[in-house]
Amino acid sequence: MDLEGGWDYENRMVEPGYTPEDQAVENPLRPRTFDQYIGQDKVKENLKIYIEAAKSRKESLDHVLLYGPPGLGKTTLAGIVAGELGVNLRITSGPAIEKPGDLAALLTNLSPGDVLFIDEVHRLPRTVEEILYPAMEDFALDIITGKGQMAASYHLPLPRFTLVGATTRAGQLSAPLRDRFGVVLRLELYSPPELGKIVMRSAGILNAQIEADAALEIASRSRGTPRIANRLLKRVRDFAEVMSGGVITLNTAKIALDRMEIDELGLDSSDRNMLKAIIENYNGGPVGLETLAAVIGEESVTIEDVNEPYLMQIGFLTRTPRGRCATAAAYLHLGYPVPGRLREDGQLTLDEG
Ligand code: ADP
Repeated sequence: MDLEGGWDYENRMVEPGYTPEDQAVENPLRPRTFDQYIGQDKVKENLKIYIEAAKSRKESLDHVLLYGPPGLGKTTLAGIVAGELGVNLRITSGPAIEKPGDLAALLTNLSPGDVLFIDEVHRLPRTVEEILYPAMEDFALDIITGKGQMAASYHLPLPRFTLVGATTRAGQLSAPLRDRFGVVLRLELYSPPELGKIVMRSAGILNAQIEADAALEIASRSRGTPRIANRLLKRVRDFAEVMSGGVITLNTAKIALDRMEIDELGLDSSDRNMLKAIIENYNGGPVGLETLAAVIGEESVTIEDVNEPYLMQIGFLTRTPRGRCATAAAYLHLGYPVPGRLREDGQLTLDEG
């Protein structure tokens, strides 16, 4: 079902979005402190300093915007920030706040210093965004009720709070909203060794026995995303119960991941279909996003948030003003002969025209 507003990833194994299963079993895996939160060192160091400074001044922390692809740990970080500050965390999302009144209800229920986490903050309705500005800046709400002669305006002071906004792309945020975040931090895709550590940690929490090379195998097929790494770990553990007496060995991990049709670089059938479409139907590109989405039957937002960040990171895809292009590396990986124009420097050279 599409509860997230147009993001129907179906049962995609490497889909980094939230699924009900995550909610049930993922919580114990969620790091609670900066020490447990692996990777993103720059982001962590910055946040620690801002938190320390806010605490010593006995002020609320400035509003924080976290951006990066789904599943990289934005919600987790908001929880850690609230924990470090010793305040409550309230979680909501842009599409869930439909009316100004919904936001007013949330804000007036906060205690001083609390952290309000708004996921998909770029999807707040415009009317809500407008009352959020004074709330963020002056910690007050100006609400107008009724119409014409019955209209009345209320000025409602709010407790000082910290808004932690998360978005997949900072560019989607309206400029006035972006400007009101004092701290803007970008989360990067994780390296396989970092994800390997996350898999080892999660296996420990889940009481699953895993060999180090198996953890790294799962990590390197998790497209830089902790949420995917944890999900693959759980599925591989199921295979291990049946195949290798519960111990996750490299061999079991490989067989399980192959069965799930996730290749050694973490590409699934959606990624492969997308690259194949660019190569077979459009001679390697460029092809526009919407055309591509229609050809492979995927939402364009999924392509932009899920497929592309990783395919670009591993050098399989480039984005040009004229559209998406497959690189020589993508041709090679999928077993196509590399066209002459891509052979020279491994990069696509566009013929101007
Ligand atoms: P986002 O809000 O960016 O979509 P989440 O914060 O929900 O992502 O993270 C997804 C899951 O991945 C978390 O439940 C947690 O188990 C795991 N995770 C994320 N970041 C880390 C990290 N740095 N170290 C360990 N586990 C992490």
